[in-house]
Amino acid sequence: MRILITGAAGFLGSHLVDRFLADGCEVVGVDNFVTGSRDNLEHLEREPRFDLVEHDISRPFFVEPKVDGVLHFASPASPVDYTALPIQTLKVGGLGTHNALGIALRHGARFLLASTSEVYGDPRVHPQTEDYWGNVNPVGPRGVYDEAKRYAEAMTMAYHRAHSLDTRIVRIFNTYGARMRPADGRVVSNFIVQGLRGEAMTIYGTGEQTRSFCHVDDQVEGIVRLFQSERVDPVNIGNPDEFTILDLAVIVRRETGSTTAPVFRPLPPDDPAVRCPDISAARRELGWRPTIGLREGVRKTIPYFRGVVDRHAD
Ligand code: NAD
Ligand code: UDP
Repeated sequence: MRILITGAAGFLGSHLVDRFLADGCEVVGVDNFVTGSRDNLEHLEREPRFDLVEHDISRPFFVEPKVDGVLHFASPASPVDYTALPIQTLKVGGLGTHNALGIALRHGARFLLASTSEVYGDPRVHPQTEDYWGNVNPVGPRGVYDEAKRYAEAMTMAYHRAHSLDTRIVRIFNTYGARMRPADGRVVSNFIVQGLRGEAMTIYGTGEQTRSFCHVDDQVEGIVRLFQSERVDPVNIGNPDEFTILDLAVIVRRETGSTTAPVFRPLPPDDPAVRCPDISAARRELGWRPTIGLREGVRKTIPYFRGVVDRHAD
């Protein structure tokens, strides 16, 4: 199999590249490095089954020879990134998804869209099931990401219905692990870096808002199983163990050995109060469930961030 992955130099994209190569595939990665880094793929420099192309997927892209699968992961993904890149985020969710679908159609390839729990917005149904339509503010700062992904899902289903394209949609819930950019502003990376530097962890709002954190190894396994399944409707992939941000700070403080007291900062606008996936569909149809708890996952992730912090110490 020959697989095209957009956003290949990003956090999730680079782990997917590794996984498809390990499974014996050839992989073509496309990235414009707006939030990703060549460092994430440095270990593949001499890998003959991997090609990396620098390209903005919001512009048309042609790939030869034939690809059998297209996984569209390109998009700024952290609230800090998509707030700083609002138009690029809307373009890659809209034009980028259209271009990626066009490639899949031309090659008769299976297409998988990286969607998000943000399609549920600030949810009124908890935990979130795939049949919940969400509660999104289209004109708020998060709207650029949420609506781009909602449009991307609609476009994916339109290609499925109008062109009989073989499509998959994964709704990814907060995922963490090695290769996250230390400055991308997400809570797990912020807290680990702050903990390792002995700086105060920044808790936004009261810290009573909840998230459900999935380790990248579990997430990649879920995505690959979905890609290999026959399920067209969206599937939540995430860890249903729900934590407050205060709980997370306690865990990261303990695991990093930090003794610095946290500080409280204003809650960003439209920050969802709760988030937790209902994963019945993934369990039933993919035989998937997460296996790595938050404490273990944080422990596995710390050495990567320690390396980053040490490199930037001087
Ligand atoms: P990331 O920022 O690390 O990776 C995104 C990659 O896409 C980067 O390498 C970036 O340079 C690239 N990119 C962005 N715009 C591009 C464009 N126009 N053309 C080519 N490349 C482009 O983020 P991530 O966490 O790895 O997220 C990957 C995907 O998964 C995104 O689509 C994101 O919305 C989705 N997702 C991630 C999470 C999570 O918790 N990590 C949660 C929900 C959804
Ligand atoms: N958050 C926080 N401190 C930080 C970064 C984030 O308290 O330094 C909070 C944020 O307000 C949100 C949660 O942690 O409630 C998760 O934020 P993140 O940016 O990781 O992802 P989101 O789930 O909001 O997309």
